[in-house]
This record gives sequence, C-alpha cells and structure tokens, in this order.
Amino acid sequence: MEKRIPLSIPTTHGEELIFVKEAFDRNWIAPLGFNCDEFEKEMSAYLGEDLRALSLCSGTAGLHLSMKLAGVRPGDVVLCSDMTFAATVNPVSYEGGVQVFVDSERDTWNMDPVALERAFGKYPQAKVVVLAHLYGTPSRMDEILEVCRRHDAVLIEDAAEALSATYHGRQCGTFGTYSVISFNGNKIITTSGGGMLLTKSREDRAKAFKLATQAREPAPWYQHEQIGYNYRMSNVVAGIGRGQLLHLDEHRDRKTAIFRRYQQGFRDLPLTMNPHLPDTAPNFWLSCILIDEGRGDPMALYDLLGRNNVESRPIWKPMHMQPVFAANDFVTAGGESVGEDIFRRGLCLPSDIKMTEAEQDYVIGLVRSFFD
Ligand SMILES: *Cc1c(COP(=O)(O)O)cnc(C)c1O
Repeated sequence: MEKRIPLSIPTTHGEELIFVKEAFDRNWIAPLGFNCDEFEKEMSAYLGEDLRALSLCSGTAGLHLSMKLAGVRPGDVVLCSDMTFAATVNPVSYEGGVQVFVDSERDTWNMDPVALERAFGKYPQAKVVVLAHLYGTPSRMDEILEVCRRHDAVLIEDAAEALSATYHGRQCGTFGTYSVISFNGNKIITTSGGGMLLTKSREDRAKAFKLATQAREPAPWYQHEQIGYNYRMSNVVAGIGRGQLLHLDEHRDRKTAIFRRYQQGFRDLPLTMNPHLPDTAPNFWLSCILIDEGRGDPMALYDLLGRNNVESRPIWKPMHMQPVFAANDFVTAGGESVGEDIFRRGLCLPSDIKMTEAEQDYVIGLVRSFFD
C-alpha cells in the first residue's frame, strides 16, 4: 500500500467547527464556558445516568482528581489493573500511594476478580481500586463491584478506552464511584486532547472543580487553603467534543464492523481475537489478536506489517513488568500471570474507522501470509 494504514487516528465530521466558531463569535475562547457546560450535560445524557460531569484537559487529570477525591494518602496501597496504559496507574504515585498490580483474566483481558479478592487478602487495608476497561471491552463488573463492596473499597473506573461500550446494557463510565473518560487523539472520539471526570454527587464535582481551577477559595482576592491544579478544558476544545459526540455511535458501529470483518478473515488461522463476555457490547476501540502458543511471534508479524506500511502495536506491556514499578507487588489468581502471556502472544491491528474494506482486506491478507 502506498498510503500508510494507521492504528487509529482522529475522524472529524465538520460539526465540530460549528461549536468552535460559536466560541469565537461570542469571544469565549477562555477555559470554562458554554461549550464545556453543554458538553458535560450532553455526555451525562448520553451515558444515561444521573452524573455530575467535569470536563478536563486530559483523562490523566481526571484520574489524578479521582485519587484526591478517594483520599489516597502517602503510603496507601491502591489495587490497580496490571495490563493497561501507564496513565491508569501513574496518578497513584502523584499522591504518594503505592500501586499493587492485579492480574488480568482470560475472558476480558481486564482485572481478574479472583486475583482482586486475593490482593485484598494480602492487603486488607486497601481502600481504593483502579480498574481499566482495556481496548473498549467491559470488565467483569458484577464480580468486581461485589469484591469492592465486600472490602468497603472505592472503585475508580478508567473508561478512557471504553466510551460507548456497555455491560448488561449499562454504559462504561457509570460504574465507578469516580469514572474517567478520555478524548485523546487516538480515542473513539477526540477533542485533540481532553478528558472528563464523572462523579455521582454535586459535592464531589464541586471538590474536583475547585482542585482543577487552582483551588481558589470564595474571596475577592486570591485565597488558597489547598494545593490546586490547572486541569480545566478550554471552551474551544469542548466545542470539538460536542461535534464529535454527535458521531460517537457511528464510530462505535464502524469499529464493531472492523472487528467482525477481521474475525471473519481470520476464522481458520491459529489465533483468537480479544474476547468479551456475553451480554456486553465492547466499542471495539482496537481489534487485537492473540496468536496460538508456538504458532508465531507477534513482533515478527509487527515487522512484516510495518514493512508493508501497516501500523500495528504490541499489547499494553503489563505494569508489573515495567522498570519504573520493579519494586511494586503483583498478585495473580494463583497461577502464572495471564497478562504476561497475552503481552507475549498479542498484537493490536489497525482499527481506524476510515479504513476501507480493500485496505482491511490488505491487512487480513498480510496476516494470513504470516501463517502460510
Ligand atoms: C488514553 C488513556 C488514558 C489517559 O487519557 P489522556 O486523556 O491521554 O490523559 C488513561 N487510561 C487509559 C487506559 C488510556 O487508554
């Protein structure tokens, strides 16, 4: 292919500019403003629950504010998804907490509730769990929530990759005490960069709002009783988000069709695709494969695709394998690490929604040639 086939890049539609233009026309291009307010309302309506949303400059900022709201203090143990992007777990360190990583399960590639229960056995003092829904696949929520309830722990839900995915009909991003979504450039919808914190109460939102706007006290002069941050989203950027949100379901449907086409194209190959539970609808943000044991090295396939102008990406390298977390504990369900195995045998394939059927067939052909 002459044109490079990307993993996942932004797709815009034009409506974004209508909201952005309004911000300019009303000379309201500062942080905060009507686009932020409307974007928050529209997102809460989309998610279909009584949420108090706060638009922010990134998903990572939302995860950091969640740590503050959950009251993570220096030395506190926080039980975290192991196989995820580092942004899920870095904010624990911002607050001086200590990540203990919890292994993945086979059926969703997400946090294993059995391993989580074992982690609570080892760290009964833990009061906070950080859970990511990988690649837009909902986690085993009933079991995870039950374990959290049993141990009286707060759940921080990292739904950065999972906006529009549903578990038993309920949207990802509505399960946590605090939930976070991301609008980074490669996510299912994007604002070029941004995120949202979803809380359940007016009080939590107000606390997060204050921290995100330099923790200013209500006084005519600048009065501060806490350390604050500059985490708000700009009114221009929120305009992009409003335009993108109109196309979220369409993006999800395209991603789903891409996943199904891969599934069909690979049905006789020695591999499986990223799995999900019955009665859940992933958003299929990225389509991934897991090569059967001994049937090939995903990095050799990665090289083959790269040589042919097709972008692929290794699975998120588990956090317990990262040098920066060498001193952190890691808990499995009892046996070998599932996350390590998926990392060793897995690969993310191009899942950009502008990919044509011909382009996808080209990718499928390359993958098939790898196993010839
Ligand atoms: C993208 C992502 C984040 C971070 O979101 P940003 O908006 O880029 O800060 C956090 N967690 C996961 C799982 C992500 O994929």
